Amino acid sequence: AASFSTSAAFRALADEDRIYTNLYGREDPFLKGALKRGDWHRTADLIAKGPEWLISEVKASGIRGRGGAGFSTGMKWSFMPKNYDRPHYLVVNGDEGEPGTSKDREILRSEPHKLLEGILLAGVAVRAQAAYVYIRGEYRDYRYALEKAIHEAYEAGLLGKNACGTGIEFHVHTQPGAGAYVCGEETALLESLEGKQGRPRLKPPYPANAGLYGCPTTINNVETISSIPTILRRGPQWYSSLGRPNNAGTKLFSIRQGGGHVNRPCTVEEEMSIPLKELVERHAGGVRGGWDNLLAVIPGGSSVPLIPKDVCETALMDYDSLQEAGTYFGTGAVIVMDRSTDVVEAIRRLSWFYKHESCGQCTPCREGSGWLWDILTRIQTGEADVKEIDMAINISKIIEGHTICALGDAAAWPVQGLIRHFRPLVEERIRERRRMRAMNNLPEVD
Ligand code: NAD
Ligand code: SF4
Repeated sequence: AASFSTSAAFRALADEDRIYTNLYGREDPFLKGALKRGDWHRTADLIAKGPEWLISEVKASGIRGRGGAGFSTGMKWSFMPKNYDRPHYLVVNGDEGEPGTSKDREILRSEPHKLLEGILLAGVAVRAQAAYVYIRGEYRDYRYALEKAIHEAYEAGLLGKNACGTGIEFHVHTQPGAGAYVCGEETALLESLEGKQGRPRLKPPYPANAGLYGCPTTINNVETISSIPTILRRGPQWYSSLGRPNNAGTKLFSIRQGGGHVNRPCTVEEEMSIPLKELVERHAGGVRGGWDNLLAVIPGGSSVPLIPKDVCETALMDYDSLQEAGTYFGTGAVIVMDRSTDVVEAIRRLSWFYKHESCGQCTPCREGSGWLWDILTRIQTGEADVKEIDMAINISKIIEGHTICALGDAAAWPVQGLIRHFRPLVEERIRERRRMRAMNNLPEVD
């Protein structure tokens, strides 16, 4: 596999290596169009090779979960029990609540049969009898598109009592979410599917041991599952030849948000490890006002620390490179902030989001996310003291790694990133706003 140290060394993903050939919905998204694109082509032959083969091929491809955490998909499947003494379930996570992220919805809208074929293949691999697709409530039209495709698949005998003529009975159901961000966390999602309040469960046990209704369950993201048919048809070597070792394959990148600080916001399929600069310039028409007008980028959806322009110059869009850069790959959603951005205000607003979405089970997340928001708000209103910067760091460290789910980390990391890279700006903001407050004769605050 290639190693791309610069934009010049990177070649764009070739059309023949694209998984999502109808990403922009230019062709018929439904069964007729899907069959033309090669979906459902001899699916029965792949199923006939059995669960062990399916799992070992997916393991060998190196695909890592596209929901954000990047856990090996093949490994996750292999954790499922091999017997059938309890029902097994496949749950597909289409909750896509991460700010800046808009990839799964394109699949639901334009490639629903890729997802359904992937669901059947993954379902056979993990020995499930049914799959539930949990879809973000606001994605009503995208859910309708998937439901239409499910209806077509049943009518054509691709799903149902004798899926693809294999004698296997397999059913697919959809479930809309109701607007809670935390329900995208896999165990909160399971609680919600069971009709309870969506609160994350302590792990372990992991869902492969005790998932939906206490039964063995595999939970995968929409993008992960819809990549599976192409990986199995073209083979694991093809997939792992794209990207870099440990960062294989293609990926859907969303480049938008931050108030639209790129010239052409888009969602695009590219090879993993594409240089961040190349991604923004080639596909999103560049930063508004030119690359030199860039302030910072949040490279993986709002839950990860931002990186300033100098780090963006060399960062590659993959797990390892972004970790080296002090952040995370997350959902691969790139939030570009140009120099007109008030970065303190941007992170303050994110802080409010996490405080608002915290389910309240863990004290560090419930209290800490509110305190972080409070400090950032005090900075903006001229009520904070410079020493509160260190206080914010301390609070973020108390939250990080000490909560049931990753929402706590997500509340902590953006604030850490802000202070790590923009501390002088934050200090200056505190002094400036205190001066403004004094000029307006507002009371001094300790
Ligand atoms: P995680 O690392 O806890 O788990 C990832 C997956 O691997 C889970 O399915 C988990 O069950 C499995 N896993 C991990 N360790 C395991 C083990 N030892 N044994 C068996 N299975 C194991 O992360 P997470 O909380 O699922 O996800 C966090 C990420 O979600 C964040 O990094 C963020 O980028 C992303 N996120 C995505 C969205 C979105 O809209 N797609 C929204 C919010 C957050
Ligand atoms: Fe709830 Fe926050 Fe704890 Fe997650 S970290 S379980 S959202 S309180």
